Amino acid sequence: MKVAKKIESVRNLVGTARSGGKRIGLVPTMGALHIGHISLIETAVKSCDFVVVSIFVNPTQFGPGEDFKKYPQPLEADLEICADAGVDVVFTPTPEQMYPGKNLTWINVERLTEPLCGRSRPGHFRGVTTVCTKLFNIVAPDIAYFGQKDAQQAIVVKRMVADLNMPLEIVIRPTVREADGLAVSSRNQYLTEPQRKDATNIYKSLQKCQEMIDAGITEIPKVVAEMRRILQEIPSAEIEYIDIVDAETLQSIEKIAGKVLAAVAVRIGFARLIDNILVDAGK
Ligand code: AMP
Repeated sequence: MKVAKKIESVRNLVGTARSGGKRIGLVPTMGALHIGHISLIETAVKSCDFVVVSIFVNPTQFGPGEDFKKYPQPLEADLEICADAGVDVVFTPTPEQMYPGKNLTWINVERLTEPLCGRSRPGHFRGVTTVCTKLFNIVAPDIAYFGQKDAQQAIVVKRMVADLNMPLEIVIRPTVREADGLAVSSRNQYLTEPQRKDATNIYKSLQKCQEMIDAGITEIPKVVAEMRRILQEIPSAEIEYIDIVDAETLQSIEKIAGKVLAAVAVRIGFARLIDNILVDAGK
């Protein structure tokens, strides 16, 4: 496995693989790799001939007062995980490499970035889509892999690729959870032990939502109230949002019908945690 710190190094390595007819896969990450990332990497290794994992804590997707400076960066452990998983190149650029000088060009996906996390993290998705475009231009993968854990991000990136005719496929993989249901996240390490226990209520609230929809309940306020009750059992929780929206457009709906996305964002202590489920409520 090679570690490329420079844009030209990763371009050269991928260029050689491509001229050998290899199918290139990219897994963009911010590092602090866990089993969620590993599931994306393993899928990439299975379906591609040459896999690049990027590790870059992207400053432009963090707002003021967010955890950019504190974001965990255990590079050695990350490299070991990548080597074990059969990755060909880990791309670890510096912010100066990725953003030389003041960036004047941004990618902005409209509408899909407004609800859910877009409301509480202004500018976040602009940072995500801009850095993904940069990574796609640098690596030029045939396929890039994203997690359903960040459902809105996945939808936004897919739409950007379609709207801008980017020549790659976006593959979305299911959310990987701990045994007790908590979605695995690099930010879970911010939780104290009691907070970690309480955090299981996040997935419990989504399971309750699934149960209520399965039972034929179509009123969103009724389901959201029940989810809120479960989340409020977490002593230190600050609920950022609980929403049930159209699974494709992410727009508000009047009643639960068809394919919906139930999504929550909760602050527990220092950690801001998000989770979601897709539910097919039928017609
Ligand atoms: P991050 O390093 O948090 O930017 O995540 C990199 C990629 O891994 C994104 O596409 C995430 O959606 C995905 N990811 C993070 N956590 C999980 C998880 N628990 N299950 C599946 N994918 C995940």
